Formats: sequence, C-alpha cells, structure tokens
Amino acid sequence: MDKMETRRKKNNENKTNNKNIKGYKSEKPKILLIAFDGLGDRPVIKRKNNLLTPLEAAKKPNIDKLTREGITGISNPIQPGIVPGSDTGFLALFGYDPFRFYVGRGILEALGAGIEINPGEIAFRANFCTIEKNGKEWRIIDRRAGRITNQEAEELASSISKIKIEVKGTDGEKHVFEFLFYHTKSHRGVLVIRKEKGEKIQMNPLISDIDTHSIGEFRFAKALDSSENAEIIAKALNEWIKKTNETLEKHPVNMERKKRNLPIANCILTRGASMIEKTVKEGTVKYGADYNGIYGWAVSIKPFSQKYKMNAACIAGGALYKGVARYLGMEVIEVPTATAGYDTDIKAKVDAVLNALEKNDFVFLHFKGTDVAGHDGDAEMKKKFIEKADKFLKPITQLKNTIVIITADHSTPCEMKAHSADPVPILIWGPEYLIRRDEVKEFGERNVTNGGLGHIKHLDVMPIILGIVKKAEMYGT
Ligand code: ZN
Ligand code: ZN
Repeated sequence: MDKMETRRKKNNENKTNNKNIKGYKSEKPKILLIAFDGLGDRPVIKRKNNLLTPLEAAKKPNIDKLTREGITGISNPIQPGIVPGSDTGFLALFGYDPFRFYVGRGILEALGAGIEINPGEIAFRANFCTIEKNGKEWRIIDRRAGRITNQEAEELASSISKIKIEVKGTDGEKHVFEFLFYHTKSHRGVLVIRKEKGEKIQMNPLISDIDTHSIGEFRFAKALDSSENAEIIAKALNEWIKKTNETLEKHPVNMERKKRNLPIANCILTRGASMIEKTVKEGTVKYGADYNGIYGWAVSIKPFSQKYKMNAACIAGGALYKGVARYLGMEVIEVPTATAGYDTDIKAKVDAVLNALEKNDFVFLHFKGTDVAGHDGDAEMKKKFIEKADKFLKPITQLKNTIVIITADHSTPCEMKAHSADPVPILIWGPEYLIRRDEVKEFGERNVTNGGLGHIKHLDVMPIILGIVKKAEMYGT
C-alpha cells in the first residue's frame, strides 16, 4: 500500500469516527466575516472609577456569546505605526498585501458605485463640503457640508454632472477634458476625468488630494511628479473646482439650506486619484496597483474565488466596501435600505447574509456606523450602534457549520476623530470541534489580548481561517 493510499484510508477512518462528534458535519463550513468599520477605540466612557472603550461599555449579549464560544485575539491591520484606510485595511483582511495591491481610492469608490471606468480615465473619491471665501483665500469649514441628505446631494450633483474644462499647457496648446460627477450616498460622490475626443495628452493620476481630512486652508490640486501632463490635469481639476463652486453657491438647494442656517454644500473635495491604465487579459480582475502604494495603475490581481477556491459575496451600504469587494471579484448583493450610516437597515442586511450563505462559501458583512461615530467623536453613539447591531445578530449565533469572524478594518478612536494605528480586536467562532475556545468572555480591545489567537496581523486572518476549515496547504511530509 503506498503512502497516499494509507493516508486516504486513515482519512476515511477519521470520517467514520467523526460521526460520534456532536453536531459534526462533513461538508466544508461556510465563512461569514462581519466587519464593524473603525470599531477599535480607546477608553473614553466613564464607568464608576474606570474608563471604558465604546465596545467594552456596550451591552452586546450576542457578540459576547460568540466570544465565549470562540477564540479571540488582537490584530494589526497593516503594521505598527501605519494608519490604515478602510480600503487598505480590508485588502489586508482579505489576504491581499495592500502595499502590492492597493489601486487607489477613486477606482474603488467608482467600482463600488457601479460606475463604469475605462482605461485612461482618472477617478477620485469626492465629498460635498462647505467653504468660506475671504477674497482669494478659501477655507474649508465643514468637510461633509453638514452631512447633507441624499436628496439634496442628488439635486446638487445633477447641476454639475458633466462639465467640459479647457486649459492651456506651457506651450500655449489647448487641452480639453470632460468632468463627470456622480453622487453616491449622503455627502459622498465620485469624480471622473476623461479626455475630450481628439485630446492627445497621456493621462496621469499623480494629482494631490484636495481633501486632506482636515478643515482649514483649502489646498488646490498639485501635480505629484514633475511631468507636464500631471500639471495640466491638476490645473484642469482646479478650474473645475472653481466652476462648480460658482454653480453650487447659487443653487436653490443651498439657498434653502442658508435660510435654515445649515452649512451649504458649495464646494467639492477630491482625493485618491487613480486610474486603470489598460484592460488586463481575461481571467484577471481589471484593477490593481503598484505605484508607491498610494496612487495606482492597473496590474492583474488574482480574484478571491481563484485565490481561495471559494465563491464570495459582499453585503454593505457604502460604495468603498462594495468597491473593494468588486475589485476582488466578489458578488455584491444590494440591500436597498442599507446606508453607510447609523440608520442602516441592520435586519435587512442580516437577512441578506443568511440568504447569501446558502449559495456562497464566504460572505462579507460590513457595518459603517461605528466608523461614522468615531469620526464624529461620539462615543455614546458608537456604543449605541454596537448595541443596536448586536440585537439583530441573534440568528448568527445559531448558525450551523459556519465560521464567523468579527473584527474591524482599523480603529477610529472617538478621542481622535480619525483612524489610528491601534490594533483591532478579532474573534473567530464556529463549531466546537473546529475552534480551540479560549477563556475570553467579553469582546473588548483589552480582553482579547488574553485570547488564543494572540497578536496577529490582518494578513494572517485568511490563512488562519483556511487552517480552521482544513484548506491550509501542507509544507513538508
Ligand atoms: Zn474603515
Ligand atoms: Zn473612517
């Protein structure tokens, strides 16, 4: 009997024995990854003589049940000292090194919104914002224009949806571009710059961010390299910013907001310029990046389904998360009542997850409310959102033959109102015969440091899961 045959026989014997294990299922477990965006925090909520994080302070019986029946740990999304974006945090969580595969925010945002981007077009993540003008000096006073409503943003966006911009190069030659603006959700949108017919310039996405995540002085776009084409495109973008400012300032929606003493959405902030250079061969996903890890061009990337031999689906409200999922070739399941905020329809999302688990090996569920609260510096709201979501997670705690992971893409401490490099808590739950349960009883940033997973990084998460579901590769004999 050769080695392979012996092993096969042994496996079969194991299968027979497994019948004695309570609840044992021989088919591969399903995997559900639940991400609370920006979940990690620092102690801010006063309890008697202690300070607790929003997660520690939250009453969350369902998540704590998963914690008691699971294995926990603390994870560095990228590496110590690097503050992750949501995009890079999630790429790492899905097992794609963000330093190799980050394409840039603009493309991801566009993909998420279902906007078709062609090679040679530059995409930006865009925000409606409020600026104050004092002669030539512009100041950003609200980066999100008071988080204007969808309907207001929709109306404003339609007034600037397609604008032609003409600029001159140093040689006096004329360059013409078309600027397409798409509203996505709330104050968010996508800007796409494409060449007008006959325009010969080589497109270059090395354009600085106008949105630097801070209020104060308005910084117009600049070229990030010394090429003239980047300079010309930055110049055209700045022209577009001025032109749209004129249109938005006079818009009836803003007149109405002014009357109600609300911040007006009179300007657009852009960031994450990125571009697909060419269509990549069939069988590869069309997008990817390798430029400085910040602004990207296309390279081929192995889709999730090929990399892990699992088909995957995403359920999220925000465009960026759907964009990351589409970038990796996951199916995006639309839940019309899912928003990228506190008011998201958690029940509808959980129902969609239960459905998606029937057909998919891997399901990614995203909640944005925690990150929004972190950016707003509202610890009570963050705690409340966790508690609200927890209520709807009951059916998740009753899943059979399923591995559930709960974690975050990064921390967004309320005290910082921004992302931080702090590691995030993680828990992995599943059938008792697959998971080495640890002693951690409550899910919190500090408790989980006693957990059985120890201190890991996000790039370890998928390999750990593959190990649990018996898909890990053998090295040696
Ligand atoms: Zn995030
Ligand atoms: Zn954030």
